Amino acid sequence: MEHQVIILGGGPAGISALLWCHSLGLQAILLEQGKELGGQMLQMFHPVLEYPGFPDKTGVELRDEFERHLRTYNLRYRVNCHLEEINLRDRRLLVNGEMLSAQAFIIATGAQNRRLGLANEETLPGISYSATHDQQKFAGQEVVVVGGGDSAFEDSLILAEVCPRVMLLHRSDKFRARPSWQQAVFTHPRIQVMTNCEIKEASSLADNQLQLLVVNRTTARQQTMQAHGLFVRLGIAPNTAFLQQQITVDVAGFVVVDRAQKTSLPNVYAVGDVCRPVCFSVATAIGHGAIAAKDIAEMLRP
Ligand SMILES: Cc1cc2nc3c(=O)[nH]c(=O)nc-3n(C[C@H](O)[C@H](O)[C@H](O)COP(=O)(O)OP(=O)(O)OC[C@H]3O[C@@H](n4cnc5c(N)ncnc54)[C@H](O)[C@@H]3O)c2cc1C
Repeated sequence: MEHQVIILGGGPAGISALLWCHSLGLQAILLEQGKELGGQMLQMFHPVLEYPGFPDKTGVELRDEFERHLRTYNLRYRVNCHLEEINLRDRRLLVNGEMLSAQAFIIATGAQNRRLGLANEETLPGISYSATHDQQKFAGQEVVVVGGGDSAFEDSLILAEVCPRVMLLHRSDKFRARPSWQQAVFTHPRIQVMTNCEIKEASSLADNQLQLLVVNRTTARQQTMQAHGLFVRLGIAPNTAFLQQQITVDVAGFVVVDRAQKTSLPNVYAVGDVCRPVCFSVATAIGHGAIAAKDIAEMLRP
């Protein structure tokens, strides 16, 4: 079936693109692989402070408002969409056994927490990607945090409020975290920092603890370490694996776009976290959706 616009991804960027397509008179459909809309907003258990107008709403509550807005106009979106094939050059895709095509594509597939890369990472109990969410779960217990940027340092401080010992592990001896958090972490009595080391294996022990095999990258020395929680805070990775070298991406896999959100292929746009915005946020994603829809409307104008 031929559409004017197909939007792939139902986070704030995709939702905004759908609304803007509607108000610009474009016939669009949004396809989301998850069972509900919202993307990373579903992981925000705190109020979304940087989004104007809703100071008390959590990510899920803000998502509910967005979805209510879509329903007001009876806009078309599908969830549980399993993408089987995609050809960006011809703007065709196969989803849940149905072939769809469009005059323009908007890729809004967002990003997710970068994984550590352990074989059993998805199934191991005790692994977390957010101290804000899981702080209380590990109160009174010893935890390990992995990473060297803002998120690892902030999470170490959050966890040190309730944990007797926080071990921060980083693969190098240089940190990207902001200086004020470095100062706070390095002087904190309950946080220890280990540099130049990597976790090679993790396994679950009988007493709900994790056993970690840690290797020093400089000396190759191995040691085992035990902790109740392992917080992986390595930044975020774009959901672009499915694009399989069809459009230009940067070294980290984020889609390269111009100021109108155009990608390297004609009539294919990318919006939100998937194209490494200067600021990863709901507000930025919403803005990108508007820009792409506006440019498509201009382009398709007869
Ligand atoms: C814990 C946490 C807290 C945050 N706190 C804030 C905050 O307080 N304020 C703020 O402004 N921002 C915050 N953010 C960042 C914000 O959530 C993101 O910047 C924003 O959600 C990006 O929107 P997006 O639509 O680009 O991508 P996403 O929200 O990642 O949505 C992408 C969607 O695309 C879907 N998708 C992926 N691949 C496919 C595919 N092949 N086919 C179909 N669908 C696909 C995904 O399932 C997902 O629903 C937070 C993020 C996290 C994780």
